[in-house]
Amino acid sequence: MVLSLIFCGVAFAQSGETQAEIRYCGQWMMEEAFFNAHPEAREQATRDALRLEAETEQFMDANRDELIVIPVVFHVIHYNGPENISEAQIMSGLEVMNADFRKLNSDIDDVIDDFTDVAADIEIEFRLAQIDPSGNCHTGINRIVSPLTYIGDGDVKDLIQWPRNSYLNIWVVENANGAAGYSLYPSSVNGNQGAGNDGIVVAHDYTGNMGTSNVYRSRTLTHEVGHWINLRHTWGNSNSPGDPENCDMDDNVDDTPTTSGWTSCNVNGETCGSLDNVQNYMEYSYCGRMFTDGQRLRMRAAMNSSTAQRNQLWTPANLEETGVSLEPILCEARFSASRQTICVGDSVQFFDESFHGVSGWEWDFGDGNSAGGEAPWHTFDDAGLFDVTLTVTNGINEQSLTETSFIQVLEVGAMATPFSDSFESPELSEDWFMVDVSNDGDGWELTTVAAYTGDQSLRIHNWSNNIEFNQDLLITSSMDMSQASEIQVSYKWAYCFKGTNEDEDDTDDRLKIYASPDCGETWSLRRMHRGFTDLPSAPPHPFVFTPSGPEEWNSYTLSIPYEQFFTENFR
Ligand SMILES: [Zn+2]
Repeated sequence: MVLSLIFCGVAFAQSGETQAEIRYCGQWMMEEAFFNAHPEAREQATRDALRLEAETEQFMDANRDELIVIPVVFHVIHYNGPENISEAQIMSGLEVMNADFRKLNSDIDDVIDDFTDVAADIEIEFRLAQIDPSGNCHTGINRIVSPLTYIGDGDVKDLIQWPRNSYLNIWVVENANGAAGYSLYPSSVNGNQGAGNDGIVVAHDYTGNMGTSNVYRSRTLTHEVGHWINLRHTWGNSNSPGDPENCDMDDNVDDTPTTSGWTSCNVNGETCGSLDNVQNYMEYSYCGRMFTDGQRLRMRAAMNSSTAQRNQLWTPANLEETGVSLEPILCEARFSASRQTICVGDSVQFFDESFHGVSGWEWDFGDGNSAGGEAPWHTFDDAGLFDVTLTVTNGINEQSLTETSFIQVLEVGAMATPFSDSFESPELSEDWFMVDVSNDGDGWELTTVAAYTGDQSLRIHNWSNNIEFNQDLLITSSMDMSQASEIQVSYKWAYCFKGTNEDEDDTDDRLKIYASPDCGETWSLRRMHRGFTDLPSAPPHPFVFTPSGPEEWNSYTLSIPYEQFFTENFR
């Protein structure tokens, strides 16, 4: 895949985040990558760009004070890591965009005197969608599990995309193809091949001003939306700020002076013979505070153009269909919890995820206790399975959700020790939990195909797996180790590479053994067996591997002599 090979700039920040690695926008590189992959799309995009430029030149902004409202949907592409950012962080991203586009940013006073006259209120507002393309009430946030979050090229857009003539699509990823974020111009995605590439990809740690992001990096979406509505970098069409030749390029905006572009915040900088607008959001200076009047005109021209269907986004009919012109609609109660398997005496924090416009909460924890609040903690004092119910209100209507067996509370010393298991029963005993983290369906399973002793074992059928970072968990219940002076864990496994001794068939799979002293609240890695070192127990097989006998199994005894693990709730 060509797009994944494009490497974007990485550099050290010169202000703000001392010594931190700062990434920049990858818009132009991704434009080039897209056109290199689709040469015929480049021709059409060139024509569409000329047409949009002509429209922009003639655009008068007749409805000067009309607010343009754009429905937005976020697609959080994650692999259960920190890139699965909170709703609060996403909302902070929207708030920053809206403040910047309405010239309501609290740091607008930082703009130096030479540019205060041209700093503009764009009068564009972004609202989270309340209704999905099928007409159903929706949070406006989709969460999709995929390892593509670690690559973040155009392929993430194939995972999920809502119609671009109804929604601005924003994909939040772990790695935005090496950049902070990127978006293509409307003219570049106007054609059929481009349509699937319309929207913004942004790194989770450059989304909003809290959580995994911060205030310094929070203007990334403001900048990328600028591209999405046809703004160029202040120096012109490239990802190469600082190049003196940029003085010969232009952003086709009258009131942004010609510049070679900045990766630092020198507000007195003059690179092409006049004072640069270093504080412009379309710079790489990381001190963006403003758009100009000229940029306002250019963006509003693009929003009034049929190019990439931008003019369809803010019609009254679309605002109604996407729910953004309506009051908050309370349509569904939903919640999550910090942990779902705990031990007696442990506490869990619950989080309301109901939508929209919730003002009151009533929680029933299923153990005879209840509480109010948006994110209450509750301590479970009895072992068992508990149904949890949340009832929410907006002052007028109510919605309620009961999750059956939502919390499992293990009793202290739930497993007899010393414990051993060769998995001979038809079903896995309740001493074990399996979790298919990647949700690919090929997790741990009982099998009669191979055994070291008896007739059965557990296996992961990995032959046809070509997904990187695939993860499957096998977790014990709790053991009372409070009287121990040493914990020993012995296990046997069989593993080989697929193929015929060719290096490219070798994969660095890992078998990792973790221990928890606190019933699973925290885990520490105690041992890792790697594909490139001691994991293989047999030579590579060009067919599905079944160990032929005990000689094709490895074994290991892990010793844990540390006092902090000698607890009542060891797992
Ligand atoms: Zn950019």
